[in-house]
Amino acid sequence: MMLNLLKDIWFLFGRLFPFPAKPGLRRAGNPDRLSLVLVTCNFELTVRKVLRTLECDGIDAWLLVAPTKGINVWCAASGGYFSTDTVVSIIKTSGIENLVDHRDIILPQLSATGINIWALRERTGWKPRFGPVDIKYLAKYLECVGDPFERKYRRIEFPLGDRFVMGTNLGFSSLLFFILPFLVASIWMDGLWWKSILLLFFLAILNSVLVFLLPGKPGVQKGFSLGVILSVIFVVIRQNIWTIGHWETLEQIGWIILLSTYLGYDMPSWSPLWRAEIKELVMGVKRTLVEVIPEQCIGCGLCTIVCPAGVFELDSGIKKSMVVRLDACQACGACIENCPKEAIKNNFRSGTCSCPTCTVINSVKSSKRKVLHP
Ligand code: SF4
Ligand code: SF4
Repeated sequence: MMLNLLKDIWFLFGRLFPFPAKPGLRRAGNPDRLSLVLVTCNFELTVRKVLRTLECDGIDAWLLVAPTKGINVWCAASGGYFSTDTVVSIIKTSGIENLVDHRDIILPQLSATGINIWALRERTGWKPRFGPVDIKYLAKYLECVGDPFERKYRRIEFPLGDRFVMGTNLGFSSLLFFILPFLVASIWMDGLWWKSILLLFFLAILNSVLVFLLPGKPGVQKGFSLGVILSVIFVVIRQNIWTIGHWETLEQIGWIILLSTYLGYDMPSWSPLWRAEIKELVMGVKRTLVEVIPEQCIGCGLCTIVCPAGVFELDSGIKKSMVVRLDACQACGACIENCPKEAIKNNFRSGTCSCPTCTVINSVKSSKRKVLHP
């Protein structure tokens, strides 16, 4: 019990490291031939959370734990580790086809970024559908399947607790990046390394917890704003409480702004927004653009189901989807992956890799092409 609690805490705050659970079939309660079939990733914390929730809600189910390299659902789907192939393989190898009399299967909603539901249906003969955005809504979701109100269980939110956890993980990941510079700098400045590590975690948590309150756009601008605000507070405190020299004050301010700006820049990497952020920085592409092409849209409504940000609404009169909250788009690509008619125009899934390295290489290539062929 205690060991499980300690493991949960470690998995929660150190989730940037993959923690794989064994892929395969699990039973929740006493499932029979008519019970639900669910799929999840093999990040151990998620598997345990899903099983615990099913147990608490008294839901008997079969759980397919897909081999996603121990990474959580959204990150694995964005990184290509939770894909149509992954689900096909777990269906075929788990033996589930011999254990149930139906072919309904529920996928985590956030896996839509990597899974094409149409291809999955065609390749397996199963009838997949995307479940709620969080397993804690499963019972409510099952009560109102088919009802438009189910959409309220499809919105991703970042409550304070989640943002705090995200901040600690951001601190860990940034520490890996900064540890060497900190150690080298501490050769000249005594005690700098541990002060900097504390500062790094403090700023990471503040960047994450205050993200919705800070001025500027998500990313560099918000990180910079936080750095400036904290520097002002630091100078006021310094004048009234501490008596440190001007150079030391400037040094501290420089660190605060530099680290905070970096952390602000790195933070969206915890969501797929990052790729679009890089494109905006390097290529000047507006962050996100999703647009429905009405002539191609058949009004199936799948974009309204997979979108975790409530960007689309279906006009039931004309049977077309419409973009109603463009600003909320997280650039996750789930709608584009799953639209059966390629009816969603966008500027962040161009068919080429948009990681930072490829974005820089592609932008250099395209600028060269412009010079060669004016
Ligand atoms: S945009 Fe695509 S997914 Fe959305 S309703 Fe139209 S056809 Fe369906
Ligand atoms: S509109 Fe944006 S947030 Fe919504 S599914 Fe499409 S890419 Fe993701």
